[in-house]
Amino acid sequence: MLFDFDGPVCQLFAAHSAADVTATLAAAVDRSEPDLLTDEQRQGADPLGILRSVAAARPGSPLVRQVEQLLAREERRAAVHARPTEYADPLIRTLASSHTLAITSNNSPGAIHEYLNTRAGVGSCFESVYGRAESAEHLKPDPYCLVCALDSTGAARDQTLMIGDAPADYEAARRAGVGFIGFASQESREHALREAGARTIVTSLEELLEAARTVRH
Ligand SMILES: [Mg+2]
Repeated sequence: MLFDFDGPVCQLFAAHSAADVTATLAAAVDRSEPDLLTDEQRQGADPLGILRSVAAARPGSPLVRQVEQLLAREERRAAVHARPTEYADPLIRTLASSHTLAITSNNSPGAIHEYLNTRAGVGSCFESVYGRAESAEHLKPDPYCLVCALDSTGAARDQTLMIGDAPADYEAARRAGVGFIGFASQESREHALREAGARTIVTSLEELLEAARTVRH
């Protein structure tokens, strides 16, 4: 079972505001490249979107590294105050008793480990963590992090499921050849996942927890 991190495991920016982080990144980009971002991006709440734009416009540049490092630092700070997603902890513990679990995320591995280290009995449930590279290459929907997890665990693709909350997760799972369960706690997310092509969607992890407990008994 492959878990996306922000959404299915926790709300990373529950206390540390995503809009503030976006503004911090945008200010750094504007100092070097004032025309690269749109006002919508600057005023939004999608810090990863800023990094994506810089990586797409200036691949391999020092600016990409700078923005990635800034984002990684802010994600680490956010991880300290991240809120566990409802039913995520018991779901992870239940699944770990019968499945190999890994995290496949666009967030920085440092932030993911920071969070997992604070969750007694949950952090150790994941055999491996595949997060964002410092180069910001291969972000989902590129299936790279899923393929790395499959290779390291030796899991068969047709016996692997990814749980994710974004169209990029669905697309990465499709390209990697693994099944997908969408997690959508808001109607807008459910709509976006369905538009992308996801067929199996739950609105609460409680549904998966019940299914996992039924399978186990
Ligand atoms: Mg997510």
